[in-house]
Amino acid sequence: MGILFKIFRIQLQLLRNIAAKQISDSMSLIVVGTMAFDAIETPFGKEDKIVGGSATYVAYTASNFIQPINQVSIIGDDFPKEEIHQLIFRGVVMDGVEMIKGKKSFFWSGRYHEDMNSRDTLATDLNVLADFNPRLPDNYQGSEFLMLGNLQPSVQMSVIKQLKKRPKLIVMDTMNFWMESAMPDLEKVLKEVDVLLVNDAEARQLSGQYSLVKAARIILSMGPKFLIVKKGEHGALLFHEDRVFFAPALPLEDVFDPTGAGDSFAGGFVGHLAKTHDVSFENMKTAIIVGSTMASFCVEKFGPTRLKEITKQDIDKRLRQFHELVNFDIELV
Ligand code: AMP
Repeated sequence: MGILFKIFRIQLQLLRNIAAKQISDSMSLIVVGTMAFDAIETPFGKEDKIVGGSATYVAYTASNFIQPINQVSIIGDDFPKEEIHQLIFRGVVMDGVEMIKGKKSFFWSGRYHEDMNSRDTLATDLNVLADFNPRLPDNYQGSEFLMLGNLQPSVQMSVIKQLKKRPKLIVMDTMNFWMESAMPDLEKVLKEVDVLLVNDAEARQLSGQYSLVKAARIILSMGPKFLIVKKGEHGALLFHEDRVFFAPALPLEDVFDPTGAGDSFAGGFVGHLAKTHDVSFENMKTAIIVGSTMASFCVEKFGPTRLKEITKQDIDKRLRQFHELVNFDIELV
């Protein structure tokens, strides 16, 4: 009975995916990134093998705002079928996810420091990712938004090159690992994207500047028109030309596991832009609040667990909390 119900649910969702695709092709979002296993150690506990990966987190968060999500990734045959089913159920199209028989999925392991803002990477096993050469399915062509999650810059570039029509907006995430191992490729992708998302340490590393204002000026001259600098529990900054906007993070009593917070931020950010179809600076301010909201849920439990539980009501309630947090009247003197 349980299995039959599950099959029925998946078939129903597939039909929904097809219907959604037919009516909203122009609004769809391509998400590129890793689908992985993580081993995580925080002051609150330890998980030896939990599902993770940049594209997994982006898909779980962005699908609250827009469907279909056209996923591009690679997995081994060890990646849980149940996880795939849950993603399909949320409107994530798997045509662009390659499964390699007899090989292992990407594996990342990290340990967080007491302050939870910094972490050490203990292992990065590329496994299937080492030979990833994505082929973009035809039915993904025409997608208006592209989210390049954290991944080898050469793979990010290959997806951009395969698109027959440039998307309305290309958002890109990256990390220090790629700055250290693939900087020339990273510089090429930076020239092609509209929005770059990095954390403060990465912005400093990429620009060679400690001041984030100077770092932003240098990074904006490398290609992206918008730069978002994530500062963990201290919020995020949006830079564009000479303008800057700041959004705080929601003060939370407990942060259990920050893994995926950056990707959840990205999913909320690009999900909101794709839903509203508006890529103006003003709308990006709202998108940053939506991104911060999704990140605040992500850190409440290990891995993507919390992201699977939340409802639209939870998201709306937290958006209102953000509004309360930053809303004030002031008389200019
Ligand atoms: P975040 O905490 O948002 O930076 O993202 C954490 C996720 O990124 C984890 O689930 C990892 O599987 C994934 N990840 C870690 N290192 C890399 C890497 N070098 N390339 C792509 N994904 C990675």
